[in-house]
Amino acid sequence: MLKNAIERRLQLVRTPCEREHFIKKMSKNNDRFRRQRLGDNRWIQKYAIGELNFEDDDSQQEQSSNSGNDQEWSGLQFVSFGSGSSGNCSFLGNENGGVLIDAGVDPSHVYRDLEANGIRISRVKGIVLTHDHADHIRYAYRIVRENKHMRIYCTPRLMGGMLRHHNISRRIKDYQVSIFKEIPFFLAGMKFTAFETSHDAIDNMGFSIEAGGKNFVVATDMGVITPRAEHYMSQASYLMIESNYDRNMLDTGRYPEYLKARVRGEKGHLDNEVAAQFVASHYHQGLDWVFLCHLSDDNNTPAVALGAMRQALQGRGLTVGDGSNAPSEQDKDVQVYALPRFDTSLWFVF
Ligand SMILES: [Zn+2]
Ligand SMILES: [Zn+2]
Repeated sequence: MLKNAIERRLQLVRTPCEREHFIKKMSKNNDRFRRQRLGDNRWIQKYAIGELNFEDDDSQQEQSSNSGNDQEWSGLQFVSFGSGSSGNCSFLGNENGGVLIDAGVDPSHVYRDLEANGIRISRVKGIVLTHDHADHIRYAYRIVRENKHMRIYCTPRLMGGMLRHHNISRRIKDYQVSIFKEIPFFLAGMKFTAFETSHDAIDNMGFSIEAGGKNFVVATDMGVITPRAEHYMSQASYLMIESNYDRNMLDTGRYPEYLKARVRGEKGHLDNEVAAQFVASHYHQGLDWVFLCHLSDDNNTPAVALGAMRQALQGRGLTVGDGSNAPSEQDKDVQVYALPRFDTSLWFVF
């Protein structure tokens, strides 16, 4: 029942502050809530503001599902299950379903946390892959093998890279849907466009994902921001951008020289400062959230990465929220949040 789904979701938010965050996010959907008929958002909204009447739960849910319009967005939902060289995987979608972006986190954790957020894996349509490094594809075959309705959306070159360089069953090809950069495709009611990124896997891409009039852009694992990546990233409403390393920490850290050179290189990873300057110089009023992703465990800390981004944005005269949704943070120009490296993030509803 939807009531249980919302309760499970509220259970996932761990502190009073996070709980307030969740409820405020729901309240922000007020306008959309009024426009909708009996969509799920109405339920969530009522729950959040304490006006819930559980007695007509089932009848409302039925009418909602009978409306049968998957394109009617009830709020974009995003959660990250882990971000960094140990494993990357996130979910983007809404109550009607969604997709996983990358498959580098233990699926049992992914299923557990999706379920805790009221999202059944049977509603997840597939996995889109950014590139064929193990921290992004490690569990792709296991996930589709365990969920045969799902498909893997990736370029033929990326599939070839997975098969050549990883110990992975060729049966994974049975689940592939070929996509191509710069050619949009629709999945779970969202419009995806893959764009080239500068990295050292066999094939590398970010995604621009349009849903409900907003634009979620995934830009991870990139040594530099190329013009095509810039084109998409600069239009984001919600930007997930790599903020991999602090230059000083990398230079003075324990990595061997060849590895330092690889990370710094044009096909390596993105410097905190480069990410921060990019966002500050491309800020526009439609940019609501910046999610820092793929932070290095050796050459970065969340505080250092967030500090660089905040400083750059504030240097442009912008006010920066800390993503906590404390009352004092509500009216800031943009929210900045670092995705946890090993844990599930907050549950975001835009
Ligand atoms: Zn990676
Ligand atoms: Zn990579």
